[in-house]
Amino acid sequence: MTLRIDEPASLRPFNSFGVDARASRLVTLEDPTDVAAALALLAEAPRALVLGGGSNLLLAGDFDGTVLRVALRGRRVVSAGENDAIVEAAAGENWHDFVCWTLDQGLHGLENLSLIPGTVGASPIQNIGAYGVEMRERFDSLEAVDRHTGERRRLGPADCRFGYRDSVFKHPDGERWLILSVRFRLSRSFEPVLDYGELRAELSARAAAPRSDGSGHRDTDRRNAPATADGSPPPDAREVAAAVVAIRRRKLPDPAVLGNAGSFFRNPVVDAAQADALAAAHSDMPRHPAGPEAGPGADGRPRVKLSAGWLIERCGWKGHREGDAGVHERHALVLVNHGNATGAQLLALAERIRASVRERFGVALEPEPTIVR
Ligand SMILES: Cc1cc2nc3c(=O)[nH]c(=O)nc-3n(C[C@H](O)[C@H](O)[C@H](O)COP(=O)(O)OP(=O)(O)OC[C@H]3O[C@@H](n4cnc5c(N)ncnc54)[C@H](O)[C@@H]3O)c2cc1C
Repeated sequence: MTLRIDEPASLRPFNSFGVDARASRLVTLEDPTDVAAALALLAEAPRALVLGGGSNLLLAGDFDGTVLRVALRGRRVVSAGENDAIVEAAAGENWHDFVCWTLDQGLHGLENLSLIPGTVGASPIQNIGAYGVEMRERFDSLEAVDRHTGERRRLGPADCRFGYRDSVFKHPDGERWLILSVRFRLSRSFEPVLDYGELRAELSARAAAPRSDGSGHRDTDRRNAPATADGSPPPDAREVAAAVVAIRRRKLPDPAVLGNAGSFFRNPVVDAAQADALAAAHSDMPRHPAGPEAGPGADGRPRVKLSAGWLIERCGWKGHREGDAGVHERHALVLVNHGNATGAQLLALAERIRASVRERFGVALEPEPTIVR
């Protein structure tokens, strides 16, 4: 058995908030033949927590139980067709490294999801998404093991019940699954998704600027890439990835420098009548269709997605700081740890933000990260 067991262990290096919580026991799973032994350790523990890269959770305090850190590695092309290929990565693979590897294979589809922190195994948990693409659009299937029975299953999209920052794994009937590996169906031809104005602007700026960063070569396959409005050559997949990376580096705090878990709240979905009333009072309030999966509201009209960041900013929280717990100065949606904030302090700040948004706008915010109490 090659399981690594630390008793007790600081979880500070293993959560992107940099919260110094301790676990009674930390088990690191690196070898796939140790899965059954790892599950046995979880089963005997008073409480159990599965951890990937720790970039989407808030540890509210010490964890009196066993934490299983999934560090399984490996990635491969499972099957290669003329137009597409199925690729697989073990749960502990770093997500961004995996995206870069798919581009190295000449496979397209994940470039808009570049630089999202964390592991491949956690990507289905909240159906990660960015810049107009969600993981579920490229998802093929995953292999999971039932933590209680040891049964292994291949789960497809219908089993996973993906939604906006959501999946079956975030609900009681899906929490029993430990994800071991994930497969994606990726395309050989490049069909860029450039719905976001910010991404188009970054690409135009980069096309106009002399290339000085040596950031990779251009793909030869541009057949599906639409001509850009300013007449510059259409981007290739690496250029889209590089633009996404540049935007993210500019906009989001690096957890290695300033602890955070990305967006702390999901964008709330409300009935159209409530959105209308809010828009009447706040003409600059952003609002977007929530999509068919949100279903109709009580009035039968399609529901509306609001911007959690805008609501929080309007309540005056941007740049706010209470000790080492704070709200990022450029991003009202990102809670930050300026050094030694505890999980409880960050959680208390999050609760105050929620209460003020509820009081001022009558809108309930839900946290995006898993809160481990
Ligand atoms: C700076 C920053 C930017 C971010 N930007 C984005 C973004 O643009 N879009 C986006 O969607 N997210 C974003 N996130 C959130 C985060 O990167 C993703 O949710 C990521 O998928 C989390 O991966 P992780 O391995 O760190 O998961 P963890 O934080 O370790 O775990 C998250 C949840 O998944 C569960 N889990 C982890 N691995 C497994 C497994 N193998 N089997 C079963 N359950 C498991 C955990 O128990 C926990 O409930 C951002 C985070 C940061 C810090």
